[in-house]
Amino acid sequence: MLKVVKFGGSSLADAAQFTKVGNIIKADKSRRYVVPSAPGRRYSGDTKVTDLLYACYSKAEVDADFSNEFGLIKNRYSEIIKGLSLNISLDKDFEEIEKNFKAHIGKDYAASRGEFLNGKLMAAYLGFTFVDAASVVFFDKEGEFDADKTNEKLGKTLAKLETAVIPGFYGSDANGNVKTFSRGGSDITGSLVARAVHADIYENWTDVSGFLVADPRIVKDPVPIETITYRELRELSYMGASVLHEDAIFPVRIEGIPVNIRNTNCPDDPGSWIVESTGKKSKYTITGIAGKKGFCSINIDKDMMNSEVGFGRKVLQAFEESNLSFEHMPSGIDTMTIFVEQKAFIPHEQQVISAIHRLAKPDTIDIESDLALIAIVGRGMKNAHGTAGRIFSALAHAHINIRMIDQGSSELNIIVGVANSDFEKAINAIYNIFVLTQM
Ligand code: ASP
Repeated sequence: MLKVVKFGGSSLADAAQFTKVGNIIKADKSRRYVVPSAPGRRYSGDTKVTDLLYACYSKAEVDADFSNEFGLIKNRYSEIIKGLSLNISLDKDFEEIEKNFKAHIGKDYAASRGEFLNGKLMAAYLGFTFVDAASVVFFDKEGEFDADKTNEKLGKTLAKLETAVIPGFYGSDANGNVKTFSRGGSDITGSLVARAVHADIYENWTDVSGFLVADPRIVKDPVPIETITYRELRELSYMGASVLHEDAIFPVRIEGIPVNIRNTNCPDDPGSWIVESTGKKSKYTITGIAGKKGFCSINIDKDMMNSEVGFGRKVLQAFEESNLSFEHMPSGIDTMTIFVEQKAFIPHEQQVISAIHRLAKPDTIDIESDLALIAIVGRGMKNAHGTAGRIFSALAHAHINIRMIDQGSSELNIIVGVANSDFEKAINAIYNIFVLTQM
């Protein structure tokens, strides 16, 4: 058994959290490769080291005095060193970082130092080998992540090491300069390492015990999700559910490695499993509910639209000309509706309307704004009857007007559109009908 373990910022925020992490790793010999984030918030209102680094570097970039911020960063690490009585000094590293900041080395390098230094501490604390991510994670000339080169180098390097710490979030570009993934990118590094060493499990340790069926800010005490497939998760994260970085699924998916989301503060909780496929039925027909506010619908009417070849293409071309992507496109015999993100659409709205007129010659176009989309996702829906009916009746009982309904052809999800103002009420109504009434 071989496990790759990634720990998020809140799991490594101070010496006490480091100790919990140490205990988790020592409790299981198969936890051989460790990917740490930078120290995160110790309490609400605290600042993550990554944010301190960005702030510090934005001063360094304009040659302003950054000693104050730099001091705060140094303190975060020296507190951890002291708290764990580590026999290590980061003085030389800080000297070099300060020099590089003054030479305007770049924002990505600056941000990456949070993980780099934390990796060094973690390696010293565990007695594992430190592997600088810049030497094993690569981006190409265009700045895109280079999956093949990374996988080969990472695999070869780690094959020689019994145990190692590889800092998350960054790698190096074609010129050897440090480059980071987007925020939260240590999740991706963990996934890359899991793929490269052919891990049996990728454990992703954070501060919640896995995924919940709905957003706890909207639904009171939602139940946890025990098992979710990669595809279900992709649907839910696209719609706003965030525990794991969206791009972290791709590398493990290639090898079919399951991901186990775990809670550093409650290590006995089983957490959630993300798997390629499972015969396990979820307790409820649905696996999860997620949604987003802020969409517009563009309703296009034209008599005999159904028999006009190429109508849909012409309409979509109008959106393409303004470089807009669309979310959903339900249609009727003489009507077609396009859902787009409101923020992106509004600046181009008149351009799009005139383009639709020019290209597709519709009878009328009508725009509605302030709509929300809710995705009800579940592999169990395929074999259950009456799922859509239950959604409709739950929403009708809650006096919510449904503006759109779209069922994906995979039968993995049903999307409903409601007014922004009905968003929270609708999610609660759907949660109640599928989860509470089945308890
Ligand atoms: N430390 C980085 C961030 O705050 C990356 C990570 O934690 O995954 O975004």
